[in-house]
Amino acid sequence: MRKTNYHMHTYRCMHASGTDEEYVLSAIKNGYEEIGFSDHSPWKYDSNFVAHMRMKDSQFHDYYRSVSALKEKYKNQISIKIGLECEYFPKYMPWLKELLKEYHLDYIIFGNHYYKTDEDRVYFGTACEKDDMLEKYVDEAIEGMKTGLYSYLCHPDLFMRGRRKFDEFSKQQSYRLCQAAKDMDIPLEYNLAGAAYNDIMNTTQYPHPEFWKIAAEVGNKTIIGVDAHEPKAMENNKYRDEAISFLEGLGINIIDTIKFHQF
Ligand SMILES: [Zn+2]
Ligand SMILES: [Zn+2]
Repeated sequence: MRKTNYHMHTYRCMHASGTDEEYVLSAIKNGYEEIGFSDHSPWKYDSNFVAHMRMKDSQFHDYYRSVSALKEKYKNQISIKIGLECEYFPKYMPWLKELLKEYHLDYIIFGNHYYKTDEDRVYFGTACEKDDMLEKYVDEAIEGMKTGLYSYLCHPDLFMRGRRKFDEFSKQQSYRLCQAAKDMDIPLEYNLAGAAYNDIMNTTQYPHPEFWKIAAEVGNKTIIGVDAHEPKAMENNKYRDEAISFLEGLGINIIDTIKFHQF
């Protein structure tokens, strides 16, 4: 398996640190063959809402310019792709599509964090404590995947951040999500930032082993995402190695590349 990672953030999202170049240098140092930047995408809101966890619309051009320059500078050492981690916000999708087309991004990945828009601040991670919100989380994930824009679904088991236990309803909704992803041939991401969180906080939120047993049974393709929010996350092999042995133990098909788009 080639060492790749398509989930990396930058300081622009306001909860990540380091320079863009430091992420690249850490990846090269740790033997990555291909990486992709996928910072939290900006959105052009109808309201004057300012998101606290994503770059501003006005910063996108600088992000694109910076990653493009690094792609060129390090082309003999590592392959670098330019992407974004995007929500599925139905009313703003036309704007997103225009942006993707204008800049010809290589790919986007699907981070389904907020319900419809983050202007209403309904964060699925915690809201999914309630069954009706978990159902909506899966509905939105499926609708988003249907757009065909996203190369994979990030941390599909994000809903376990809010639920106390992986109960019968969690199981049922996980089957529904996994089956839809399988039918559309969209890989699911095993998220290493979540694995680090579970380890440090001594908890089991996402990735959740019960979810991954279901993904194995359904036969989903899986990709490992570092979800790096600091350059040194690219040098940590502990969570990556643990993820590989866990997933291999379940007999899951781990893939090391994604479909790139011609936006
Ligand atoms: Zn983030
Ligand atoms: Zn992320």
